[in-house]
Amino acid sequence: MSEFDLIRRFFTRDTPHAILGVGDDAALLQVDAGNVLAVSSDMLVSGTHFLPDADPFLLGHKTLAVNLSDLAAMGAVPRWAVLAIALPEADEAWLAQFSAGFFALAQQHGVELVGGDTTRGPLNLCVTIFGEVPAQQALRRSGAQVGDDIWVSGRLGDAALALAHLQGRIALSDAGLAACLPALHQPQPRVALGLALRVIASSAIDISDGLLADLGHILDASQVGAEIEFATLPLSPTLRAHASLPLARQCILSGGDDYELCFTAPAARHAELSEIAARLGLPLTRIGKIVAGCGCIVHDAAGNPLNVETGGYDHFR
Ligand code: ADP
Ligand code: MG
Repeated sequence: MSEFDLIRRFFTRDTPHAILGVGDDAALLQVDAGNVLAVSSDMLVSGTHFLPDADPFLLGHKTLAVNLSDLAAMGAVPRWAVLAIALPEADEAWLAQFSAGFFALAQQHGVELVGGDTTRGPLNLCVTIFGEVPAQQALRRSGAQVGDDIWVSGRLGDAALALAHLQGRIALSDAGLAACLPALHQPQPRVALGLALRVIASSAIDISDGLLADLGHILDASQVGAEIEFATLPLSPTLRAHASLPLARQCILSGGDDYELCFTAPAARHAELSEIAARLGLPLTRIGKIVAGCGCIVHDAAGNPLNVETGGYDHFR
């Protein structure tokens, strides 16, 4: 199979919303009048982001999901993606599964694959995604105000807990593992939530490196501080069952790979956020508030500050 056969067979689908898609030297794209492009890249490297024997269908899903999560955090509508892929060999069964996982999620979100690059090399998957958003409505990290509530979507820590099990750092029951694995392998990007938050949230970020690290980026960009109530953090029953272990606390606060949204909003928007949660069937939980100052304090149930590591995953530390 030649490089071009491979691209044609596994990575070429209809792209009705592109002026020009796969097959020329560049794609041609047009955003709607009044909108700006939101652009983001995420790379998944074998051995760093996934195990070499990872299920290719799930890997296809996750490769796109982590990029969709970034657009969700900006309040952008996802439109197009390009895929740069290095493969050790042209394994047709692997490629069929990978592209099936990728396009299943792409179709769900109306994303068109309009180009990319294909080379031989250690397995490496890099997507650049393009979305659009009215210029004034993009959700930035820098808008949090003193007095705003801090919210998170979904549940925290399940992906990190499942990874800890796979790495032998904790032994979950079969049922516990089955409950946590989808968070690790098939994160659901919160695109619809990002759109709903456009005119409500004052700032937003997606949680890829752990709650405290990513909330920390909002605090730095907004030049404010935060107080979090540990007891309010949304946990799955599996995580709750292990919540007394230091490892569980680490998964919850700095585990990473959650792909939930953390955002801030004025207290007056509480009722609207409850309506959005009900409409989307997605729990939204108020976990604390923005205060003057800098940094984040986490309180335990008695109101005492917890001694927590605020750093998330950092490739170079
Ligand atoms: P060039 O050599 O001009 O950079 P390529 O030969 O790399 O072009 O790619 C040919 C066409 O296939 C281009 O339109 C490119 O965007 C597309 N393409 C290459 N790899 C992929 C991929 N993995 N997924 C989708 N499109 C791809
Ligand atoms: Mg090329």
